[in-house]
Amino acid sequence: MTETAGNPSGVDAQLAGATLTIDLDALQANYRTIAKTLGSGTIAGAVVKADAYGLGIGPAGRALWNAGAREFFVAHPSEGVALRGHLPEARIHILNGAHAGAEDAFREHRLIPALNCLGDVERWRAYSTKIGEALPAVLHVDTGMCRLGLDRTEFKRVAADPSLLDGVNIETVMSHLASADDAASPQSAEQLAYFREIRKALPLGRASFANSSGVFLGPDYRFDLARPGVALYGVNPTPHTTNPMAQVIRLQAKILQVRNVDSPETVGYGASHQVVEPSRIATLPVGYADGYLRSLSSRAKAYIGDNEVPIVGRVSMDLITVDVTAVPEALCRPGMTVDLIGQHHTVDDLAAEAGTIGYEILTSLGRRYHRVYTGGAE
Ligand SMILES: *Cc1c(COP(=O)(O)O)cnc(C)c1O
Repeated sequence: MTETAGNPSGVDAQLAGATLTIDLDALQANYRTIAKTLGSGTIAGAVVKADAYGLGIGPAGRALWNAGAREFFVAHPSEGVALRGHLPEARIHILNGAHAGAEDAFREHRLIPALNCLGDVERWRAYSTKIGEALPAVLHVDTGMCRLGLDRTEFKRVAADPSLLDGVNIETVMSHLASADDAASPQSAEQLAYFREIRKALPLGRASFANSSGVFLGPDYRFDLARPGVALYGVNPTPHTTNPMAQVIRLQAKILQVRNVDSPETVGYGASHQVVEPSRIATLPVGYADGYLRSLSSRAKAYIGDNEVPIVGRVSMDLITVDVTAVPEALCRPGMTVDLIGQHHTVDDLAAEAGTIGYEILTSLGRRYHRVYTGGAE
């Protein structure tokens, strides 16, 4: 097991309550699975916003580059600047666009903005004219998110007068699916039909449409450049069926204390869990301050080896309690580890128990874990 120098969380193994292991070989395998699914006609980009969905933009970005990714996407300009420090040659796209005043930084760090409305187009054009160079950009057209991108009225204006784009180098026209993770939703086909109209009216540059789940909606959704994010990190992009992605993270908490409860007692804040028969309760140094969500109280499962152990009582800020009555004592002593996320219990499993999605579990992963990166080489 190799440990990457410059561990971004910087928490020493002996001083941390839990270890988060990030398998960069699995991340690369997931990138290759997506590239293979897309086939040779579509470039597999990589979305690494929000610190690569919580896993670390430096190590994740470099591993994806080593696996062949060249087209990267982040949300904020600040994330693009950080990524540039790790990947000097990558093509870095900024989904949230270039707000007024950020233009010089975009040019300095070679960041490519998404132009999300006609005002963005106008500003990027004025800046391009000022410096005398048609700077690259992505034109984002909204087909159903109602969030960012040219709305229908704005798109009609551009389609009627494409000279509105003169002076800007529109390398890519993109749109974003709203319901791709729900294979039964009619919305994806509606968005696809509109995106095809958009391409017919504006056949410039490359077309980019699919996120992770979109990659798995079939060949019609793939176009020239895909923008997978969450699937790279192991979350199932096809929730209706088996996960085609490899698990990337493992989260192991160290047992702090184990107590025998011989008489009826309650556990934790609010006395929400009642012990009725002789039990053993182990306390682990992970809580909601680490992104182990409070909604997991008395809901989540954890594992000691192959033994399932339920979280009992409330998740508190720094601690959780698990019922280890069914596990041999030799396997649960202070200092031994419990898998909170692992082979038996995926990010998606934990998300379901918390009533949320894998995206939120990943991006909530705390800063107090000892982080270990394995693999990720060329
Ligand atoms: C976040 C995002 C993606 C990646 O989505 P996943 O569902 O994580 O694959 C792609 N495109 C845009 C515009 C996004 O905001």
